Amino acid sequence: AILSAGDEALLQRRTDTLGPAYRLFYEEPFHPVRGEGVWLYDEEGTAYLDAYNNVACVGHCHPRVVEAMARQASMLTTHTRYLQNNIVDFAEDFLASFPDPLSHIMFTCTGSEANDLALRIARVKTGGTGVIVTENAYHGVTIALAAMSPSLGAGAPKDENVFTIPAPTGQHGEQEGEIMRANVEKALATMAERGIKPAALYVDTIFSSDGIFSHPKGFLKPAVDAFRAAGGLFVADEVQPGFARTGEEMWGFIRHGVVPDMVSMGKPMGNGYPVAALVVRPDVVAEFGERTRYFNTFGGNTTAIATAQAVWDIIRDEGLLNKTLETGSAFRADLESLAREGDVICDIRGSGLFIGVQIAGDDPRGRTARLVNALKKKRILISASGPGGDVLKIRPPLAFGADALDFFMSGLREAIKDI
Ligand code: PMP
Repeated sequence: AILSAGDEALLQRRTDTLGPAYRLFYEEPFHPVRGEGVWLYDEEGTAYLDAYNNVACVGHCHPRVVEAMARQASMLTTHTRYLQNNIVDFAEDFLASFPDPLSHIMFTCTGSEANDLALRIARVKTGGTGVIVTENAYHGVTIALAAMSPSLGAGAPKDENVFTIPAPTGQHGEQEGEIMRANVEKALATMAERGIKPAALYVDTIFSSDGIFSHPKGFLKPAVDAFRAAGGLFVADEVQPGFARTGEEMWGFIRHGVVPDMVSMGKPMGNGYPVAALVVRPDVVAEFGERTRYFNTFGGNTTAIATAQAVWDIIRDEGLLNKTLETGSAFRADLESLAREGDVICDIRGSGLFIGVQIAGDDPRGRTARLVNALKKKRILISASGPGGDVLKIRPPLAFGADALDFFMSGLREAIKDI
């Protein structure tokens, strides 16, 4: 490692204090001290291109976001048990982006809390407990959700109510939908054999941790229909694909032609401020509301909402949905031509600025890891995805322009040569 003496010491102190469960990116850890737009800067002022961070969706430290957050924080930060204008104004404005009948919103601080709340609501509404997730899914940190997150590995908690189905493979074209439906039906049959009633099917609609599967559009619908026919609810986990990320629509599920019963979201919602939410159909949450109540100390606080409103305004004012579509298409076209130059890249998937690049070869996992680390040396930050760790995951802030794309492509071209 070529870490500075200061960073060597910091690394040791970090291990001493944070303990063994944390992981850092890269063989040679990165230590940014400042962010602006799509760039992160280290202590020496060297700029690194952030091509991975979907949280800073409108760009790191966007001045309008920082200003809105600071202004509200200097005036009042309080919770949802007082009357406040901004939460209702935001709810009305934001819910307009969802199809009927998705017309209630409940605020949390994290995507995990939103998914956990969805599970509670689904259990009340359906009277069931059975859950289906994909084989390499990630849905969150609580005990219930860690058990629904097989990507955490063998050490993840086990739950007899959780059933997995294979993720799409990207190999079956128009058959993808029917294959997924058959897999859901098989899982439902096993559930029935064990006397477990279905509650919820959770799907990350871009299959981020499964390896990024975006096409053909609509392939999710038959699986959702089958699960609903058995009495379960469909939860679209939009933590990754939401907020214009896929370029064509504000929400990933829309590409699939389904209207979920609940939609969870988080990450980009506050551009880094912890604000997340669950959007839900009124009839789905009605009984839950009668039987119990919901309060989340920090979820939906005034400053969280002011921040989320600023992000939402910027996405629209800066035309980020269209920009994402355009940059994403240019990005994939550049990658396609790079793929033709050699035998390293064998598939390019994704939509908008959520791109998966499948790496070929005898040891695709090793090659992908070497590429990610070689890119870091070229001052480009990305990571890998998929059960085999053999997919480059490219997911930059949406404010990713032509200059950034050129920088990325020349870096990737060199990195491929270097490894
Ligand atoms: N769902 C998906 C698809 C995610 O990627 C994540 C976070 N990686 C979560 C849920 C959980 O969100 P959070 O980390 O905000 O709890």
